[in-house]
Amino acid sequence: MFSRKAKRLHLENVSLEKLAEIYGTPSFIYSESKIIENFLEIKNAFSSNPVEICFSVKSNSNLAILQVLANQGAGFDIVSGGELARVLKAGGDPKKIVFSGVGKQKWEILEALKANILCFNVESSSELKKISSLCQEYGYIAPISFRVNPDIDPKTHPYISTGLKENKFGIPINIAMELCNDAHQDSNLRIVGLDCHIGSQITEIEPFLSALQILIDLVGVLSKKGITLSHIDIGGGIGIRYKNESVIKWNTFAKKISTLMRNTSQQLILEPGRSIVGDAGLLLTRVDLLKKNGGKNFAVVDAAMNDLLRPALYQSWHEVIAIREDENENKAEWEIVGPICETGDFLAKGRLLALNEGDLVAILDCGAYGFCMSSNYNSRPRAAEILVTKNKHLCIRKREQVSDLFHLETLKPS
Ligand SMILES: *Cc1c(COP(=O)(O)O)cnc(C)c1O
Repeated sequence: MFSRKAKRLHLENVSLEKLAEIYGTPSFIYSESKIIENFLEIKNAFSSNPVEICFSVKSNSNLAILQVLANQGAGFDIVSGGELARVLKAGGDPKKIVFSGVGKQKWEILEALKANILCFNVESSSELKKISSLCQEYGYIAPISFRVNPDIDPKTHPYISTGLKENKFGIPINIAMELCNDAHQDSNLRIVGLDCHIGSQITEIEPFLSALQILIDLVGVLSKKGITLSHIDIGGGIGIRYKNESVIKWNTFAKKISTLMRNTSQQLILEPGRSIVGDAGLLLTRVDLLKKNGGKNFAVVDAAMNDLLRPALYQSWHEVIAIREDENENKAEWEIVGPICETGDFLAKGRLLALNEGDLVAILDCGAYGFCMSSNYNSRPRAAEILVTKNKHLCIRKREQVSDLFHLETLKPS
């Protein structure tokens, strides 16, 4: 994906320096080829056990990115009415949309019923009742799946582990059984599947296999009661390599999952986000100034925690590279920080780099949970987003202007 030509870093065939000149910084830059390659890697890994890949829209919800994936035949995993609107706008197939989330609002459920989505991933008995009564009132039959909480520790960051019994997500197995019975009797509902999502950035296969086994067992019990399901959805994808994590390969993953499913007739659904877009995007930022404090070197860049929240929120590690490489320059250890008034506003710590004021740096692996988690904190306009395809580049979201910051606000009449 990257190459150096005349010491300048390129993404596909486009120089990052040139992109900074044209679009300014900070900007999120994505490689279309890499997104497609990642999608096809998952799809091809499962070629003997066809899988529906429902891209997790919350990991990157830019319309053009969704469009690229829709054109590849991807389905989508949404968590809000806003995400539903984005997928439909981008040309996504509603019959391949699964709707996750622990707190779906009435208008969101109605929009999804109207769009005729694949299913609602139901997370509580209250939600089940809510969907059923909306169907009764408006004349729909809702396809539903139950999100089971399998009580499995995925050994990832606590903020992104979601399958432990004390998390807010999903339904305990014994209660899921009861709810399946209820739903089966309810003419407003049609049970089509079971799902789970135990967490994000999981790099080993055991937690996935344990969760899948629980779903398979439950499918078996339900089938004895005459409840037949058409799919099993095991949630988000495997993690990516940010630093030096060893990450299971999709081929191995697919083989083991398919083996476990060999006696089941249900279709497999996956909801990967990070593994499709994570390493396909970077954050391009410019060093504004250098300063020394308390024996530490700080490089203050024009991107900040409002652009990339992950380091501040999860203490996550992103590789940083200087765009203009010169091996003869002296390297030093740098804290890469933004201009925001928070000590938590850092992008990377202790990086050995040769940096000068005005240099460009790329923060890698920002394609997932990057722009979509950005905010206007400190009244900073949001970054631009650029899609690179071979030697072409396209602005897929304009940089916000200062006037965009308060166009929804009103002054009190004087
Ligand atoms: C966040 C999320 C995903 C995507 O997880 P990744 O680790 O990015 O693949 C999938 N399903 C649900 C329900 C989610 O909340």
